[in-house]
Amino acid sequence: MNIEIRRYKTTDCEKTAKLFYETVHSVNARDYTEEQLDVWASKDIDFEKWNKVFLDSLSIVAVCENIIAGFGNIDETGYLDRLYVHKDYQGKGIGEKICKTLEGFVKSEKISVYASITAKPFFEKQGYRVIRENTVERKGILLKNYYMEKRISMLAYTYEDSGKFVLKEKQVPKILNDRDAIVKVTLGSICSSDIHIKHGSVPKAVKGITVGHEMVGIVEELGSQVKNLKIGDRVAVNVETFCGDCFFCKNGFVNNCTDKNGGWALGCRIDGGQAEYVRVPFADTGLTKIPDNVTDEQALFTGDILATGFWAVRIADIKPQDTVLIIGAGPTGICTMLCAMLKNPGKIIVCENDSGRIEFMKKNYPQVITVTPDKLKDTVIENSSHGGADVVFEVAGIKDTFKMAWECARPNANVIIVALYDEPQVLPLPDMYGKNLTFKTGGVDGCDCEEILSLIEQGKIDTTPLITHTYSLKDIEKAYELFENKKDGVMKVAIKP
Ligand SMILES: [Zn+2]
Ligand SMILES: [Zn+2]
Repeated sequence: MNIEIRRYKTTDCEKTAKLFYETVHSVNARDYTEEQLDVWASKDIDFEKWNKVFLDSLSIVAVCENIIAGFGNIDETGYLDRLYVHKDYQGKGIGEKICKTLEGFVKSEKISVYASITAKPFFEKQGYRVIRENTVERKGILLKNYYMEKRISMLAYTYEDSGKFVLKEKQVPKILNDRDAIVKVTLGSICSSDIHIKHGSVPKAVKGITVGHEMVGIVEELGSQVKNLKIGDRVAVNVETFCGDCFFCKNGFVNNCTDKNGGWALGCRIDGGQAEYVRVPFADTGLTKIPDNVTDEQALFTGDILATGFWAVRIADIKPQDTVLIIGAGPTGICTMLCAMLKNPGKIIVCENDSGRIEFMKKNYPQVITVTPDKLKDTVIENSSHGGADVVFEVAGIKDTFKMAWECARPNANVIIVALYDEPQVLPLPDMYGKNLTFKTGGVDGCDCEEILSLIEQGKIDTTPLITHTYSLKDIEKAYELFENKKDGVMKVAIKP
């Protein structure tokens, strides 16, 4: 159906007034009594007054088959006054078209509307949220409606240029694809990958994008093809977006999803979540519902560093009685350790150089052997039955840690490389000959979020000790300062929009 939207003219006055009367008395009749409908839209319409309201505001009509099928108006402050669609033209996308056009007229930070009981679901679908219930009195009769708002602009931390992130005012993201969701971020975090972007060491990062890829939030708007979610769901956002249909997705290798939005896109190639709202492509695979009794803080790392640790352990094949070595007690190292604990290995050794992190380990995980690099080899020998660790996770990614990893492994061990290196590493095959090691490398295939959240719910994984600091989004600059310079014993910073 062809819908033409044009500005309101005085000649539309009678037709729109009649449409208003008929719509209220038919469409709204299911939610209001006749008495209420009569005071809302009375038979004797003051056309002059009606016309003036529309001429004094930004008013449009929708024309279908030469008939005025709907109309709406908004003022410059973003107050959406009226939006009505003819009773015979409902459910054809006309209301949505009018709404979007009106929203496009104003430059205000938000749009507000008093929606009837009947119109509330429509406005919810357009991304409006109920702020409060309201009662209007007309000629002594009370009518219930809802005061609703939709945010148009928001704060977003932006990758401006190499070495420069800036907190900016941006448009709230819109659904671009049927499989998208808009998520209102309720808690986010800063990851070391964000720092890599800031310093220009992530070549695929696009300047101008909003950074941030670790967050949880509430589903605010959904594309028409999203199947497993509903508006209002609390969700953990996956660092990777993936189609679920390609060869790699079907085999669980979602990091290599071949879709252009596949893999690590959020906060790198497309706008991320150090903002008030984020658009998530492939919402059905990229968002996981958070169980009711799991808090935002508990769920915060599900989609990124915890998914990374979980994936690393999944491919490591840890057996009971194994000695597991983890190099690096940063946030990802600790997440890897927490996931390794689920396999009940004989011993876990964590190697760390930073005194603050060693202290953190000893305080929170006294059951783990924490050791400095100079004592590593001896400690591993002392604590393993076959001359080295059975499984090694390299999560540090700094000078010499790769060498440490394979040297501390026993023959035939699995060495899992989780770290992201800034420089090439040497694989000295002659020295390794006969040791018959298995190396596994890569970036997380983040497709276990549901299982991770279930383990959190059961109390089997708890990453909340990692949140050592919390900042509001408007103070994110300070949060970066702290995180980047590893001040004040920081592990992870939570960001509250
Ligand atoms: Zn990350
Ligand atoms: Zn895919």
